[in-house]
Amino acid sequence: MNEIYNFCAGPAMLPKPVMAQAQSEFLNWNDTGCSVMELSHRGPEFMALAAQAEQDLRDILGIPDNYKVLFCHGGGRGQFSAVPLNLLTVSGKADYVVTGSWSKSAVSEAQKYGDIRVIEPVVATHDEQHVLPSAQWGLSTDADYVHYCPNETVDGIEIFEIPETGNVPLVADMSSTILSRPIDVSKFGLIYAGAQKNIGPSGLTIVIVRDDLLGRAMPTVPGIFNYQTLADNGSMFNTPPTYAWYLASLVFDWLKNLGGLSVMAEKNRIKAKHLYDYIEQSEFYYSKVARENRSTMNVPFYLNDESLNSEFLQQAKAAGLLALKGHRSVGGMRASIYNAMPFEGVNALVEFMQTFAERRR
Ligand code: PMP
Repeated sequence: MNEIYNFCAGPAMLPKPVMAQAQSEFLNWNDTGCSVMELSHRGPEFMALAAQAEQDLRDILGIPDNYKVLFCHGGGRGQFSAVPLNLLTVSGKADYVVTGSWSKSAVSEAQKYGDIRVIEPVVATHDEQHVLPSAQWGLSTDADYVHYCPNETVDGIEIFEIPETGNVPLVADMSSTILSRPIDVSKFGLIYAGAQKNIGPSGLTIVIVRDDLLGRAMPTVPGIFNYQTLADNGSMFNTPPTYAWYLASLVFDWLKNLGGLSVMAEKNRIKAKHLYDYIEQSEFYYSKVARENRSTMNVPFYLNDESLNSEFLQQAKAAGLLALKGHRSVGGMRASIYNAMPFEGVNALVEFMQTFAERRR
Protein backbone atom coordinates (compact mmCIF):
# COMPACT_ATOMS: atom_id res chain seq x y z
CA MET A 1 0.00 0.00 0.00
CA ASN A 2 1.18 3.54 -0.81
CA GLU A 3 2.00 5.95 1.98
CA ILE A 4 -1.18 7.85 2.93
CA TYR A 5 -1.09 11.65 2.81
CA ASN A 6 -3.96 13.56 4.34
CA PHE A 7 -4.57 17.01 2.81
CA CYS A 8 -7.50 17.87 5.08
CA ALA A 9 -7.92 21.56 5.96
CA GLY A 10 -8.62 20.75 9.59
CA PRO A 11 -8.62 18.72 11.68
CA ALA A 12 -5.41 18.14 9.78
CA MET A 13 -2.62 15.62 9.88
CA LEU A 14 -0.25 15.85 12.84
CA PRO A 15 3.49 15.11 12.77
CA LYS A 16 4.14 11.35 12.78
CA PRO A 17 6.73 11.51 15.63
CA VAL A 18 4.19 13.37 17.77
CA MET A 19 1.53 10.74 17.15
CA ALA A 20 3.99 7.94 17.85
CA GLN A 21 5.04 9.52 21.14
CA ALA A 22 1.43 10.08 22.18
CA GLN A 23 0.72 6.44 21.39
CA SER A 24 3.71 5.17 23.37
CA GLU A 25 2.72 7.08 26.51
CA PHE A 26 -1.03 6.80 26.10
CA LEU A 27 -1.60 4.46 29.05
CA ASN A 28 1.23 5.60 31.27
CA TRP A 29 2.32 9.19 30.98
CA ASN A 30 5.52 10.26 32.70
CA ASP A 31 5.46 7.24 35.06
CA THR A 32 2.20 8.37 36.62
CA GLY A 33 0.54 5.04 35.79
CA CYS A 34 -2.28 7.05 34.16
CA SER A 35 -3.02 8.52 30.78
CA VAL A 36 -2.40 12.25 30.73
CA MET A 37 -6.10 12.66 29.92
CA GLU A 38 -6.97 11.05 33.28
CA LEU A 39 -5.00 13.52 35.39
CA SER A 40 -6.42 16.51 37.23
CA HIS A 41 -5.71 19.77 35.46
CA ARG A 42 -4.84 21.20 38.88
CA GLY A 43 -2.42 18.44 39.86
CA PRO A 44 1.32 19.17 39.88
CA GLU A 45 2.03 16.87 36.91
CA PHE A 46 -0.41 18.51 34.52
CA MET A 47 0.35 22.02 35.82
CA ALA A 48 4.03 21.44 34.99
CA LEU A 49 3.16 20.21 31.49
CA ALA A 50 0.88 23.20 30.94
CA ALA A 51 3.51 25.72 32.06
CA GLN A 52 6.19 24.10 29.90
CA ALA A 53 3.89 24.12 26.84
CA GLU A 54 3.22 27.82 27.33
CA GLN A 55 6.93 28.55 27.72
CA ASP A 56 7.74 26.54 24.58
CA LEU A 57 5.13 28.45 22.58
CA ARG A 58 6.51 31.74 23.93
CA ASP A 59 10.02 30.72 22.87
CA ILE A 60 8.97 29.49 19.42
CA LEU A 61 6.92 32.58 18.55
CA GLY A 62 9.03 35.08 20.53
CA ILE A 63 6.01 36.27 22.52
CA PRO A 64 6.92 39.38 24.57
CA ASP A 65 6.35 39.36 28.35
CA ASN A 66 3.52 41.88 28.15
CA TYR A 67 1.30 39.33 26.39
CA LYS A 68 -0.80 36.59 28.00
CA VAL A 69 -1.14 33.21 26.34
CA LEU A 70 -4.54 31.62 26.94
CA PHE A 71 -5.46 28.00 26.26
CA CYS A 72 -9.21 28.12 25.59
CA HIS A 73 -12.23 26.20 24.40
CA GLY A 74 -14.56 27.28 21.62
CA GLY A 75 -12.48 27.17 18.43
CA GLY A 76 -12.01 29.95 15.91
CA ARG A 77 -15.73 30.67 15.90
CA GLY A 78 -15.69 31.01 19.69
CA GLN A 79 -13.21 33.83 19.18
CA PHE A 80 -15.44 35.44 16.54
CA SER A 81 -17.67 36.17 19.60
CA ALA A 82 -15.03 36.52 22.32
CA VAL A 83 -13.07 39.23 20.48
CA PRO A 84 -15.97 41.73 20.23
CA LEU A 85 -17.31 40.77 23.67
CA ASN A 86 -13.94 41.63 25.18
CA LEU A 87 -12.73 44.48 23.00
CA LEU A 88 -15.66 46.28 21.38
CA THR A 89 -16.18 48.40 24.46
CA VAL A 90 -14.58 51.82 24.13
CA SER A 91 -15.92 53.39 20.90
CA GLY A 92 -18.08 50.34 20.11
CA LYS A 93 -16.64 50.44 16.58
CA ALA A 94 -14.35 48.01 14.79
CA ASP A 95 -12.94 47.60 11.28
CA TYR A 96 -13.25 44.11 9.77
CA VAL A 97 -11.16 43.34 6.71
CA VAL A 98 -12.95 40.75 4.60
CA THR A 99 -10.71 38.73 2.29
CA GLY A 100 -12.60 35.46 2.20
CA SER A 101 -15.14 33.26 3.87
CA TRP A 102 -13.69 33.10 7.40
CA SER A 103 -13.27 36.84 7.83
CA LYS A 104 -16.80 37.20 6.48
CA SER A 105 -18.10 34.83 9.15
CA ALA A 106 -16.24 36.81 11.79
CA VAL A 107 -18.21 39.90 10.68
CA SER A 108 -21.62 38.24 11.11
CA GLU A 109 -20.77 37.41 14.70
CA ALA A 110 -19.23 40.80 15.56
CA GLN A 111 -22.23 42.67 14.13
CA LYS A 112 -24.28 41.38 17.07
CA TYR A 113 -22.21 43.51 19.44
CA GLY A 114 -21.36 46.83 17.84
CA ASP A 115 -20.78 49.06 14.87
CA ILE A 116 -18.76 47.04 12.34
CA ARG A 117 -17.20 48.67 9.30
CA VAL A 118 -16.44 46.17 6.55
CA ILE A 119 -13.41 46.72 4.30
CA GLU A 120 -13.10 44.53 1.21
CA PRO A 121 -9.63 44.79 -0.32
CA VAL A 122 -9.72 41.75 -2.64
CA VAL A 123 -9.71 42.65 -6.33
CA ALA A 124 -9.60 40.44 -9.39
CA THR A 125 -7.10 41.19 -12.16
CA HIS A 126 -6.75 38.83 -15.16
CA ASP A 127 -9.11 36.41 -13.38
CA GLU A 128 -6.82 36.23 -10.37
CA GLN A 129 -7.64 37.54 -6.92
CA HIS A 130 -5.22 39.68 -5.01
CA VAL A 131 -5.35 41.79 -1.89
CA LEU A 132 -4.65 45.54 -2.12
CA PRO A 133 -1.78 46.73 0.10
CA SER A 134 -2.97 47.61 3.60
CA ALA A 135 -1.98 51.26 3.08
CA GLN A 136 -4.98 51.43 0.69
CA TRP A 137 -7.49 49.90 3.10
CA GLY A 138 -8.43 53.28 4.60
CA LEU A 139 -8.53 51.97 8.16
CA SER A 140 -10.34 54.00 10.83
CA THR A 141 -8.35 55.78 13.49
CA ASP A 142 -11.04 55.61 16.18
CA ALA A 143 -11.92 51.90 16.06
CA ASP A 144 -11.55 49.65 19.13
CA TYR A 145 -9.61 47.25 16.90
CA VAL A 146 -9.01 46.08 13.33
CA HIS A 147 -9.76 42.43 12.63
CA TYR A 148 -8.29 40.50 9.70
CA CYS A 149 -7.51 36.94 8.68
CA PRO A 150 -3.93 36.64 7.37
CA ASN A 151 -4.68 33.25 5.82
CA GLU A 152 -8.09 32.42 4.41
CA THR A 153 -8.30 28.64 4.70
CA VAL A 154 -11.11 28.20 2.16
CA ASP A 155 -9.96 30.68 -0.48
CA GLY A 156 -6.21 30.11 -0.17
CA ILE A 157 -5.53 33.83 0.11
CA GLU A 158 -2.64 34.84 2.38
CA ILE A 159 -1.56 38.35 3.39
CA PHE A 160 2.18 38.41 4.01
CA GLU A 161 2.53 42.01 5.17
CA ILE A 162 1.44 43.02 8.67
CA PRO A 163 -0.98 45.95 8.35
CA GLU A 164 0.09 49.18 10.05
CA THR A 165 -2.77 50.27 12.32
CA GLY A 166 -1.17 52.99 14.45
CA ASN A 167 -2.74 53.07 17.91
CA VAL A 168 -5.64 50.83 16.92
CA PRO A 169 -5.01 47.25 18.14
CA LEU A 170 -4.62 44.71 15.35
CA VAL A 171 -6.49 41.43 15.85
CA ALA A 172 -5.60 38.44 13.67
CA ASP A 173 -7.37 35.15 13.10
CA MET A 174 -4.29 33.00 12.53
CA SER A 175 -6.11 29.66 12.70
CA SER A 176 -4.52 28.33 9.52
CA THR A 177 -1.18 30.15 9.47
CA ILE A 178 0.10 30.25 13.05
CA LEU A 179 3.49 28.54 13.46
CA SER A 180 3.97 28.28 9.68
CA ARG A 181 6.54 31.11 9.71
CA PRO A 182 8.03 33.62 12.17
CA ILE A 183 5.85 36.63 13.02
CA ASP A 184 6.48 39.78 15.01
CA VAL A 185 3.93 39.31 17.80
CA SER A 186 4.55 42.84 19.10
CA LYS A 187 2.73 44.24 16.04
CA PHE A 188 -0.54 42.64 17.21
CA GLY A 189 -2.99 43.44 19.98
CA LEU A 190 -4.42 39.93 19.84
CA ILE A 191 -3.82 36.74 17.89
CA TYR A 192 -6.09 33.71 18.02
CA ALA A 193 -6.01 30.30 16.40
CA GLY A 194 -7.99 27.09 16.57
CA ALA A 195 -5.49 24.30 17.19
CA GLN A 196 -6.60 21.81 14.56
CA LYS A 197 -4.20 22.81 11.78
CA ASN A 198 -0.69 23.61 13.01
CA ILE A 199 -1.00 23.21 16.78
CA GLY A 200 -2.73 19.94 17.64
CA PRO A 201 -6.17 18.37 17.65
CA SER A 202 -9.44 20.30 17.67
CA GLY A 203 -10.88 21.38 21.00
CA LEU A 204 -8.09 23.78 21.91
CA THR A 205 -7.88 27.44 20.90
CA ILE A 206 -4.86 29.63 21.57
CA VAL A 207 -5.26 33.35 22.32
CA ILE A 208 -2.25 35.64 22.62
CA VAL A 209 -3.38 38.99 24.00
CA ARG A 210 -1.53 42.16 24.98
CA ASP A 211 -1.96 43.03 28.67
CA ASP A 212 -3.54 46.45 28.09
CA LEU A 213 -6.47 44.78 26.27
CA LEU A 214 -7.51 42.78 29.33
CA GLY A 215 -10.15 43.98 31.76
CA ARG A 216 -12.34 45.90 29.31
CA ALA A 217 -14.91 43.20 28.49
CA MET A 218 -18.65 43.78 28.29
CA PRO A 219 -20.26 42.92 31.66
CA THR A 220 -22.36 40.27 29.92
CA VAL A 221 -19.42 38.27 28.53
CA PRO A 222 -19.61 34.61 29.57
CA GLY A 223 -16.91 33.82 32.14
CA ILE A 224 -15.25 31.21 29.94
CA PHE A 225 -14.76 33.85 27.21
CA ASN A 226 -13.53 36.65 29.48
CA TYR A 227 -9.82 37.08 28.75
CA GLN A 228 -9.15 38.69 32.14
CA THR A 229 -10.84 35.80 33.98
CA LEU A 230 -8.94 33.24 31.89
CA ALA A 231 -5.64 35.05 32.48
CA ASP A 232 -6.27 35.37 36.23
CA ASN A 233 -6.87 31.63 36.39
CA GLY A 234 -3.99 30.48 34.20
CA SER A 235 -6.51 29.24 31.61
CA MET A 236 -8.00 26.97 34.28
CA PHE A 237 -11.18 28.89 35.14
CA ASN A 238 -12.97 25.78 33.94
CA THR A 239 -11.44 22.43 32.98
CA PRO A 240 -9.26 23.08 29.96
CA PRO A 241 -8.98 20.63 27.04
CA THR A 242 -6.12 18.81 28.75
CA TYR A 243 -5.40 16.12 26.17
CA ALA A 244 -5.31 18.65 23.32
CA TRP A 245 -3.03 20.85 25.45
CA TYR A 246 -0.72 17.85 25.95
CA LEU A 247 -0.64 17.07 22.22
CA ALA A 248 0.10 20.74 21.50
CA SER A 249 3.04 20.48 23.92
CA LEU A 250 4.41 17.60 21.84
CA VAL A 251 3.97 19.61 18.64
CA PHE A 252 5.85 22.55 20.22
CA ASP A 253 8.67 20.14 21.19
CA TRP A 254 8.76 18.79 17.65
CA LEU A 255 8.99 22.31 16.23
CA LYS A 256 11.76 23.28 18.64
CA ASN A 257 13.79 20.17 17.81
CA LEU A 258 13.38 20.89 14.11
CA GLY A 259 15.02 24.29 14.56
CA GLY A 260 12.01 26.56 15.11
CA LEU A 261 9.93 28.70 12.80
CA SER A 262 12.59 29.90 10.35
CA VAL A 263 13.39 26.30 9.49
CA MET A 264 9.68 25.47 9.29
CA ALA A 265 9.03 28.50 7.08
CA GLU A 266 11.69 27.41 4.60
CA LYS A 267 10.27 23.89 4.42
CA ASN A 268 6.80 25.35 3.87
CA ARG A 269 8.06 27.72 1.18
CA ILE A 270 9.67 24.86 -0.74
CA LYS A 271 6.54 22.65 -0.49
CA ALA A 272 4.19 25.41 -1.65
CA LYS A 273 6.52 26.48 -4.47
CA HIS A 274 6.71 22.92 -5.77
CA LEU A 275 2.93 22.67 -6.02
CA TYR A 276 2.26 26.19 -7.34
CA ASP A 277 5.09 25.92 -9.91
CA TYR A 278 3.50 22.76 -11.27
CA ILE A 279 0.00 24.32 -11.39
CA GLU A 280 1.40 27.48 -13.02
CA GLN A 281 2.94 25.70 -16.00
CA SER A 282 0.07 23.23 -16.40
CA GLU A 283 -2.64 23.63 -19.02
CA PHE A 284 -4.85 21.22 -17.11
CA TYR A 285 -5.05 22.92 -13.68
CA TYR A 286 -5.19 26.56 -12.58
CA SER A 287 -5.14 28.73 -9.46
CA LYS A 288 -7.52 31.66 -8.86
CA VAL A 289 -5.14 33.52 -6.57
CA ALA A 290 -2.43 35.95 -7.72
CA ARG A 291 1.14 34.98 -6.89
CA GLU A 292 1.66 37.57 -4.16
CA ASN A 293 -1.27 36.25 -2.14
CA ARG A 294 -0.97 32.51 -2.66
CA SER A 295 -1.27 30.75 0.65
CA THR A 296 1.61 28.54 1.76
CA MET A 297 -0.79 26.43 3.83
CA ASN A 298 -3.96 25.99 1.73
CA VAL A 299 -3.65 25.55 -2.01
CA PRO A 300 -7.00 25.61 -3.85
CA PHE A 301 -6.74 24.60 -7.49
CA TYR A 302 -9.18 23.86 -10.28
CA LEU A 303 -9.32 21.47 -13.23
CA ASN A 304 -10.02 23.24 -16.52
CA ASP A 305 -12.52 20.50 -17.19
CA GLU A 306 -14.64 20.44 -14.03
CA SER A 307 -16.52 17.35 -15.24
CA LEU A 308 -13.41 15.35 -14.25
CA ASN A 309 -13.55 16.47 -10.61
CA SER A 310 -15.06 13.33 -9.10
CA GLU A 311 -12.80 11.05 -11.14
CA PHE A 312 -9.79 13.07 -9.95
CA LEU A 313 -10.86 12.74 -6.33
CA GLN A 314 -11.59 9.03 -6.61
CA GLN A 315 -8.25 8.24 -8.20
CA ALA A 316 -6.39 10.48 -5.76
CA LYS A 317 -7.96 8.62 -2.86
CA ALA A 318 -7.01 5.29 -4.39
CA ALA A 319 -3.43 6.60 -4.64
CA GLY A 320 -3.43 7.45 -0.91
CA LEU A 321 -3.98 11.20 -1.36
CA LEU A 322 -6.88 12.07 0.90
CA ALA A 323 -9.28 14.98 1.46
CA LEU A 324 -8.46 17.02 -1.65
CA LYS A 325 -12.00 18.22 -2.28
CA GLY A 326 -12.30 22.01 -2.19
CA HIS A 327 -14.64 23.65 0.30
CA ARG A 328 -18.27 23.28 -0.80
CA SER A 329 -18.63 27.08 -1.14
CA VAL A 330 -15.87 27.39 -3.77
CA GLY A 331 -15.68 23.93 -5.38
CA GLY A 332 -12.59 22.57 -7.12
CA MET A 333 -9.75 21.06 -5.14
CA ARG A 334 -7.75 22.17 -2.13
CA ALA A 335 -4.50 20.75 -0.82
CA SER A 336 -3.83 21.82 2.76
CA ILE A 337 -0.13 21.46 3.33
CA TYR A 338 0.39 22.47 6.94
CA ASN A 339 3.61 22.01 8.93
CA ALA A 340 3.09 18.27 9.40
CA MET A 341 2.83 17.56 5.65
CA PRO A 342 6.24 16.36 4.46
CA PHE A 343 7.68 17.40 1.10
CA GLU A 344 7.21 13.78 -0.03
CA GLY A 345 3.43 14.22 0.35
CA VAL A 346 3.38 17.32 -1.85
CA ASN A 347 5.62 15.60 -4.37
CA ALA A 348 3.32 12.56 -4.45
CA LEU A 349 0.42 14.93 -5.16
CA VAL A 350 2.28 16.71 -7.98
CA GLU A 351 3.21 13.37 -9.55
CA PHE A 352 -0.38 12.19 -9.31
CA MET A 353 -1.68 15.43 -10.87
CA GLN A 354 0.81 15.04 -13.71
CA THR A 355 -0.16 11.44 -14.43
CA PHE A 356 -3.87 12.24 -14.24
CA ALA A 357 -3.45 15.14 -16.69
CA GLU A 358 -1.41 13.06 -19.15
CA ARG A 359 -4.00 10.25 -19.18
CA ARG A 360 -6.85 12.67 -19.84
CA ARG A 361 -5.20 14.74 -22.54
N1 PMP B 1 -10.99 30.86 11.13
C1 PMP B 1 -10.27 30.18 10.20
C2 PMP B 1 -9.22 30.91 9.41
C3 PMP B 1 -10.53 28.82 9.99
O1 PMP B 1 -9.83 28.15 9.06
C4 PMP B 1 -11.53 28.17 10.75
C5 PMP B 1 -11.83 26.70 10.60
N2 PMP B 1 -11.38 26.06 9.54
C6 PMP B 1 -12.25 28.93 11.67
C7 PMP B 1 -11.95 30.26 11.85
C8 PMP B 1 -13.32 28.30 12.49
O2 PMP B 1 -12.74 27.48 13.44
P1 PMP B 1 -13.56 26.48 14.35
O3 PMP B 1 -14.15 25.45 13.48
O4 PMP B 1 -12.48 25.97 15.28
O5 PMP B 1 -14.58 27.29 15.09
